[in-house]
This record gives sequence, C-alpha cells and structure tokens, in this order.
Amino acid sequence: MSLDWVRLKARVASCTDCPLHAKRNKTVFGVGDENADWLFVGEGPGADEDAQGEPFVGQAGKLLDNMLAAISLKRGANVYIANLVKCRPPGNRNPEPHEALQCEPYLHRQIELIRPKLIVALGKVAAANLLASDASVASMRGRIHQYRGIPLIVTYHPAYLLRNLADKAKAWSDLCFAVRYMKDLQSSTTAST
Ligand code: URA
Repeated sequence: MSLDWVRLKARVASCTDCPLHAKRNKTVFGVGDENADWLFVGEGPGADEDAQGEPFVGQAGKLLDNMLAAISLKRGANVYIANLVKCRPPGNRNPEPHEALQCEPYLHRQIELIRPKLIVALGKVAAANLLASDASVASMRGRIHQYRGIPLIVTYHPAYLLRNLADKAKAWSDLCFAVRYMKDLQSSTTAST
C-alpha cells in the first residue's frame, strides 16, 4: 500500500474488507502527531470510540492519557495513538485473527508514514498480532522487539490495568524503560553527529 494520509484516511473510512464494517458507527483511524517519535497501538475501538471516531476516549483512554502525561506526552501533540483494527469488534470481543490480518495494511501504512522511533504495544492482542507471537504480555515486557525494523516494547493494556491495579507499577516501569530507550537513542544520535 502506498497511499498518502488523505487517501489512506478515505480508504479506511469506506472500508468494507472484513465483517467488522457491518456493525460499526464510525471507523477509528488514529489520532495525533503524524510525525511523532512515539506510537501507541491498542487493539480496537470500544463503544465510546465507535461513537466518536477517536481511539481511547473511554475509561481506558483516560488512564492512557494519564500514562502519557506521566512521561510528558500529550494526545494530539507529540504522540500518535492508533489501533490494530479500525472498526469495533461487536460486544468488545477481541478482533479475530483474520480481521486483524485484513486491517494490518492500514496500520502498517500509518507506521510507514509516521516513521516513529518507538512503538508501544498496549496489551496482548496488539503485541501478539504485531509480533506474530502467542507469548504473554508478562514474558514480552522489558525488552526491545522489532516490528518491520521499528523498535517495539510491550506493556499492559490500560483496560487491563483498570481491573488489575497491582500491575500499574509494572506498566510504570515499562514506560520508564521506554523513556530510557528514547533518551539513549537521542544521545547516541547526538554523539554521532
Ligand atoms: N481499547 C483499545 O484497544 N483501543 C481503543 O481505542 C479503546 C479501547
């Protein structure tokens, strides 16, 4: 896929490639700085996102915004937020593998256009699909993975954290790991110029 932003957005808005289109209200393309260094990827829109057409606007989104603020990132400013699938899986079920596969070219093209320095995969579904792995979040945390040559880290999904408060500390340590990685990257680029 080689679409520019305008054509890509139009293509997603009119997509009928998988069964998820049938019950959606709005497609949820993604939001934020189209040149951001940071890209956060969730699994798919819930009811609030389907109604508003923007990712992470419900309860989990509030927590995500707080997590971003804790590392000096702000929705719409210096980060891009997207999902694996652009239409809501009915009843908030996980996207089926064939739905994720059908939708992946859109996220892939978003990533090509944004060229983030780091991708943060939020939760098992995003991580499993981006890394083609069935491993648990717990086992994927704390390391740099690669998605098509772009560094990627895995942390817990904010909706999971709302139900498992004890794991918030682990998510915080993942964010600190990500910030350290970005700082190291910056100092190595500065050193080599
Ligand atoms: N959960 C997600 O994975 N994405 C959203 O946009 C909202 C909730």
